[in-house]
Order: sequence, then structure tokens, then C-alpha cells
Amino acid sequence: MALLPEVKKNYGALKNYINGEWVEADADKYNDVVNPATNEVIAKVPMTSKKQIDEAVSAANEAWEAWRETPPVTRARVLFKMKEILEQNYENIARIMTQEQGKAIDEARGEARRTIENVECATSVTTLMMGYNLEDGAASGIDEDAVISPLGTFAAICPFNFPAMIAFWFWPYAVATGNTYIVKPSRQVPITMNYIFELIDQAGFPPGVVNMVNGSHELADALMEHPGIKGISFVGSTPIAKYVYENSSKYGKRVQTQGGAKNSLVVMEDAVMDKTVANMLASFYGCTGQRCLAGANLVPVGKKAYDIVVPKFIEGAKKIRVGYGLDENTNMGPVVSQAAKKKILGYIQKGIDEGAKLVLDGRGIKVPGYENGAFIGPTIFEDVAPDMTIAKEEIFGPVVSIIERDSFDDAIDLIHQSPFGNAASIYTQNGRWARDFRYRVQAGNIGINIGIVAAMAYFPFGGYKDSFFGTLHGQGKDAINFFTDRKVVITRWL
Ligand code: NAD
Repeated sequence: MALLPEVKKNYGALKNYINGEWVEADADKYNDVVNPATNEVIAKVPMTSKKQIDEAVSAANEAWEAWRETPPVTRARVLFKMKEILEQNYENIARIMTQEQGKAIDEARGEARRTIENVECATSVTTLMMGYNLEDGAASGIDEDAVISPLGTFAAICPFNFPAMIAFWFWPYAVATGNTYIVKPSRQVPITMNYIFELIDQAGFPPGVVNMVNGSHELADALMEHPGIKGISFVGSTPIAKYVYENSSKYGKRVQTQGGAKNSLVVMEDAVMDKTVANMLASFYGCTGQRCLAGANLVPVGKKAYDIVVPKFIEGAKKIRVGYGLDENTNMGPVVSQAAKKKILGYIQKGIDEGAKLVLDGRGIKVPGYENGAFIGPTIFEDVAPDMTIAKEEIFGPVVSIIERDSFDDAIDLIHQSPFGNAASIYTQNGRWARDFRYRVQAGNIGINIGIVAAMAYFPFGGYKDSFFGTLHGQGKDAINFFTDRKVVITRWL
């Protein structure tokens, strides 16, 4: 096992990809992109002006006419080519992700895999996009058809935690169905998407079909307000998701916004010890806790359940190797930035101040060779009460709150007290508890003996309550429906 090489040490000043070309950004400000493990600047990302959005939207709108007339099977062939190119560059995509975002290399490889799976799923457009009809559906001799058609240009506004995959929940489906697209990556982690656009450039999309513009929230606003954009897909924190939902709706757009999370993992007294502990460790500490599907609250129901999992869980957490994600010995990388680290340390302090018992403290961790990195070790609080801040707010880091409950119903009440509804899991061998859990819990992703409920590309992905605003989710058939409309045609030949 070794330290893998970085694809490049420095990626320089990033550009925008508009109308099939790399163009200098129209920006009077560039932000640093920092490797969170080394704290070195590895690229500069432009804060593109609103003016340049007009260029991207015009290119996408102009490309739309010809692209929607391109047969779906031909559009799918470009995606097959895209898949092939992504496969060839799979390892580079993963390494760049690790370098700019921090996650351990195998986690980055997993993300690259799901990224590609969404392209694979979108290649089924010829089947997924078929309409339906009924002979004599309106009256005798009058037939009725529902035709599925694309709408125009859409855009995605992406978060930092999955630099590659999240845009792929949307754009492959949008372009497969005949729309054109603009991606705005997170300014914290733009390099991966910039690299992917070098690959998109080779796939054979006509100019203007897929575009990328780098920038900040002002750019996001410009996308929401622009009359040339039909709809917005957003993924990020709940307050911004709410804002983007309201603001985009105000401009008459289709909108789907995925927000934050606070996921509980409930353990019953009959849970299978080793499998449960291993699965929970992956859920709480995978991607350094920066997953919208990560466990946040560990909820043993009764003393027996507590004894099955908690001592072993603490023991397992202590063994997690924290380090640079490109080191293949690393289990857990840094958090995304020094700012994120500061925020998480603030939550840990709050937990102590509010009276929770800190049984594993990751604050002082030192990673030899990476002393300036944004590292936090696995952290665990016991005796967490449901009304404490660390039990309620999204920490988005490697911090676990253990909240014991007396009964199954108490555990469900705890889940329902949260405004979030992204995911929830139960560990049990009892079918009745499992069935009740999936039936009653108000969350978009339910795990039965599974702690990371990450829907495959051909299933919809999204949450409930304040974790999602909109109707149709990302991925699969939901994405096809989001990016198309149903036009009804009633025909009589006299
Ligand atoms: P964020 O909300 O800070 O930023 C997300 C995107 O919104 C970025 O592109 C950013 O530039 C833009 N943005 C930020 N402020 C804005 C504003 N005022 N107006 C318009 N746009 C603005 O989120 P983040 O910190 O990048 O990502 C972490 C969050 O994303 C966590 O809350 C996590 O739970 C959530 N997330 C949710 C899902 C899901 O599927 N529900 C998936 C991944 C991440």
C-alpha cells in the first residue's frame, strides 16, 4: 500500500466550458482551491460574472433546437461514448476528488463508480422516454396520445461533498431526453468537474449541449433568475435549498432542491453485533461524516442493544486510520476545509457545554507529515439528550451522538422530532420491527441493517421534510420525468 501520486500538483486558473470550448472566465475575483490534507493551494477558481451566464444560456438555448431533433438513440450513443471515456479516466477522477475534497481514495472510487452508473442508466432513454397512447381513447375514431418531450435548458447547483457524482444525478438524464445543460460546481471543489468536462469535450456532444460555469452564490442566483433556463436542480444545505426552491419558483422554473440531514441509526436488542458495528462505523465515519446519508445519531433501544453495539463501536472508532486520502492505508481523510473544521470543533465544544459525555475526542489528532491538514479524529458523545444541539443540528463531520431510548416507539418519536427526513436505519432480525420502521418513519431513504441508504442510479434519490423541496427526485425515472413534459395529442381523421 502506498501514497498514490497526485494527477497534477497544481491545476492553475480554471476556465469555463461554454459552447463546446474552454473560455477564459469573465471574473474579477478568483478563489483559492485548497487541498484539505496539505493545506496547499492547488487551483484558482473564477467567480464568474453574471454577464457570462448569458453566454452560457444563449449557447445552450441555441443548441437545444438541433439536439431535441437528434433521435434519442443517437443521443444515447454519445452517452455510451461518455461512459467509455469516464471508465478510461476512472482512477484520475477519483484521485482528483481525493486531492481537492479529502475523502479516502476508495470512497472517491466509489463515487466515481456511481457517477458512471448514472450515465449507464441514462443510456436507456429510448425506453424510459417512451410515451403512451390509447386508440379510440377520446371517442370512437378519436385516438389519444401522451408524448414525452424535452423542455429546453436546465442547470445544476452542486455542493462540496460529492464533487463528481451529484451533477450526474441530473445532467445525463437531461441531455438524454433532449435538453441542454449548465453545471455550476461547488467553488470549494471545482477541479474534479473541470476535469470531467475535459472528458465531456471528447465525447462528441454538439457545442452548447453541456456547459460548465464556475462561481459563487451570485452565479447561482443568475441561473435561478435567467429567463432562458427552464429548471434548476440544487443539492446543498437546507437553508439554501429552501431559498433556491422559493427563488426559482418565483421565476416560474421547475425546481427540485435536496437539503441537509440528521440521520438516526436505531439498534434493537436482537441486532447482529459484528455486522451491525462494522456497518455503523462505515455510516458514521465514511467520507469523514460529510455525507447527507451519514449516520449522525446512534440510538440503542434498551440496555441490551446498548451493550451489543456501543463498546465495540467505540473500540472500532479508535482503530480508524486518519490520514491523507491518497495514502491507501487511510480509512478517513480530513474534512473539506479549515472553516469546516472550525465549525465542527464548535459543535464538539457545544456538546461538552450542554452536558454530553465526550467518550472519544478527535480534536487533538495529529497526522504526521500533514500537520496543517483539516483533520478531526473520530469523536463520540454519550448521554446525549434529544434537545441538545448536537442531537438536532447537522454537524457534517466525524461526530457521533449516542442517544439511548427505552422503546421502539421512543426511537421513532426521536426521528420524527427532527425537521430533516433524509435517511434512517434500523438494525434488527425482527421482521415486525423492520416492517413497522419502514412503514412509519418519515424519511426518503430507509435502511434495514444498512447504514448508508444510497439509492442506485435507477432508483430515485431524495429525502422528505426539510431534506427535500419539490416533487420529483434525482436519478432514474424521476429524473426523466423532471426533465420532460407530457404533451397530449387527440387525433381525428375525418
Ligand atoms: P451549501 O448549501 O453551502 O452550497 C451548495 C451550493 O449552493 C454551492 O454551489 C453554493 O455555491 C451554492 N450557494 C451557497 N449559498 C448560496 C446562496 N445564498 N444562494 C445561492 N446559492 C448558494 O452546501 P455545501 O456546504 O456545499 O454542502 C453540504 C450540504 O449539502 C450539507 O447540508 C449536506 O447534507 C447537503 N447535501 C445534501 C444531499 C442530499 O441529497 N440531500 C447530498 C449532498 C449534500
